[in-house]
Formats: sequence, structure tokens, C-alpha cells
Amino acid sequence: MSARILVVEDEEALSALLEYNLSKEGFTVSLSADGEDALITVEEEKPDLVLLDWMLPSLSGIEICRRIRARAETREIPVIMLTARGEEDDRIRGLDTGADDYLTKPFSVPELTARVRAVLRRARPTISGEVATFGDLTLDRETRRVRRGSREVHLGPTEFRLLDCLMQRPGRVFSREQLLDLVWGHDVYVEARTVDVHVGRLRKAINRRGERDPIRTVRAAGYALDETYAS
Ligand code: CA
Repeated sequence: MSARILVVEDEEALSALLEYNLSKEGFTVSLSADGEDALITVEEEKPDLVLLDWMLPSLSGIEICRRIRARAETREIPVIMLTARGEEDDRIRGLDTGADDYLTKPFSVPELTARVRAVLRRARPTISGEVATFGDLTLDRETRRVRRGSREVHLGPTEFRLLDCLMQRPGRVFSREQLLDLVWGHDVYVEARTVDVHVGRLRKAINRRGERDPIRTVRAAGYALDETYAS
């Protein structure tokens, strides 16, 4: 599972360049050229990071950032602001408004990806590293091994991706539809019920010894990792 980045940029050439390079680096990229549209996308897709241009036609980048920060559901999403040279005061205002970092145009691709990774690492320590942990659960993306305490847990590929997805955002409730998109992919037609079957298999594997279930079923909403479990 790769981090999902929303690029909000009205300059088509730059947004195409960003999409190309970030995808090549393994990120999943969505594009938006307009402020109102960007806010809807942030709300619906809950990206892992927003790359936000300062100068946009309808809403300014600063206003978009302010609105992202104002809503409880989107508050934690990291934002990197893209500014033009000579907007120093604005830059500082940008950080005041809650941007996590800024990049001055023109920037190099390595500079961009380094900043993106650094901000992702700070925001969600589990997402960019190879090993994610939650309570006594450990998931290693490189070796594809999962452990519960000292016990090795054997998971099928779908259960592995499902757990990886939940572990990236402990506490966040994922709907069945979101899990279908994130774990199975947008283009695959699978019934929502299939998610329940695989969550059942995942639970069986990780709770095999009768340990406490770290997965919470949220009625009529979906599934989440129980935050009270890890604390
Ligand atoms: Ca612009």
C-alpha cells in the first residue's frame, strides 16, 4: 500500500510533472486544479498528504489549508505548500495557517520527494517505514511477515494488505467501500460482504491464541483498529 497524495495545482504542465514523478516514486496521486474541488476530494478521499499550490483561481492555497485544518476529519492530513519565489512573508503565513512544510518553485524532483517523505514520516511514523507496529502487532512490509508478540502470524495476501491498511491509520474507521478501494483496487468488482469475510479470516489468524481482538467493528460504518488496544 502506498501513500496517497493529492496534488492541488492549476498549472497543467506542473501538475502533470508532479503526477508523473510522484507515481514513479510509488505514490498514488490524485489531481485537482481548483480549490472547491480540492476540498471535496480531501473530504472524500482523505489523502495521506496534500501538495497545495499557493496561487489558485478560486480559493487560495492558504484558505484551502485553513479549511482542511478547521475540520476534525481532515485536521491531521499533512500539507506541503508550493510557493513562487519572493513570497517569503506568505511562506511564513503559510506555516502559521498550519502547512507542515513549503517548497519554493522551481524545485527539483529529488527535493520534492525528500520533503514528501519527511513530512509523511513525521505525520504517520508507520506509513513510510518498512515495519509498522500497533500494540503487540508487528507488520514488516519488506519480508511480508506479521508477528503478534513473539508468535508469527500467517496471513494470505489479502489479509496482509487489509491489516497493513488498518495499521496505517489506527483508530480511523474504514468503510467497506474504502477498504475495497484500498485493498482490492478501484477497478475490481467485489461485493462489500467480501470485506467481512476477509476481516473474519484476519481476526482468526491474529487472535488464534485467544488474545484480545484489536479490530473494532463499527456498526453500519466499517472497521478500525481499536486505539485503546495499543495504549
Ligand atoms: Ca498556480
